[in-house]
Amino acid sequence: MKCPICNDVLYPFDYSNDYLICKNCDVLISIKSEEKYSQNYYFFTKSHKSRHKKILNILKNLKLLKGKILDFGCGTGDFMEIVKNKFSMVEIWGYDISKYAIKLAKDKKLKVFENLNQLIEQSEKFDLILMLDVIEHLENIHSILEIIYNLLKKEGKVFLTTPNKNSKYSLFGKENWHGYAIPQYHRIIFSIKGLVKLMELHNFKILTIYTTPPIVNNFYEKMRLLLASFGRAEKTKLKKLLKIIGNFGLFIKTYFNNYLEDDTIIGVFYK
Ligand SMILES: [Zn+2]
Repeated sequence: MKCPICNDVLYPFDYSNDYLICKNCDVLISIKSEEKYSQNYYFFTKSHKSRHKKILNILKNLKLLKGKILDFGCGTGDFMEIVKNKFSMVEIWGYDISKYAIKLAKDKKLKVFENLNQLIEQSEKFDLILMLDVIEHLENIHSILEIIYNLLKKEGKVFLTTPNKNSKYSLFGKENWHGYAIPQYHRIIFSIKGLVKLMELHNFKILTIYTTPPIVNNFYEKMRLLLASFGRAEKTKLKKLLKIIGNFGLFIKTYFNNYLEDDTIIGVFYK
């Protein structure tokens, strides 16, 4: 197995057996097989209202909420719905790999693409493409970034969020950091260095890249992901639940120690 960004050799990673590290790019690559996104995976997205508010504020401050926007990996369309209701001059479209999630978004009368081909074949281009906690999930990362690039207008922008491999919480929490918890879904865990390298490989230019506190409440996120794992062995579930309860103390500690302040990478790139 080689690094998908630089093609260099990968090495074992100290804090998780589920990942290998590229020392060149400073990214982690999952060695677990990818799992399909079940209905349960989307079950708790409603509880992410505080996350949506944070993202909306960042987008407003960066003056990115205008023109035609695509929410790539829109899930059930909760964020799209907020944008649609609050910013009538914005035209927002969505795409998600889950047919179940897309159906729910459609039921909310949101504009969605039902599959990747439909998205590629439509002729209009976008001013902004959102990838909110999406890039770490992509198995076929190069082909998707090529598609994203082609879907953008000239000087169109990509706004993305992703867990920060080198966050204080990941260094303090070590193997307990939430970023390592779901290798079947988190295919690549990025550092700023690795993310910039990947985006530059695809001809994107950097507008800004920085870190912020998590946009998802870690505890609820863990509970959501636990529920998403239903259908797997009971024993594993129980073990996971006990681990989460045990980690809650760690979570409180990290919260009060400001270990969470750089947990998420926010990047804005343009064509
Ligand atoms: Zn590499």
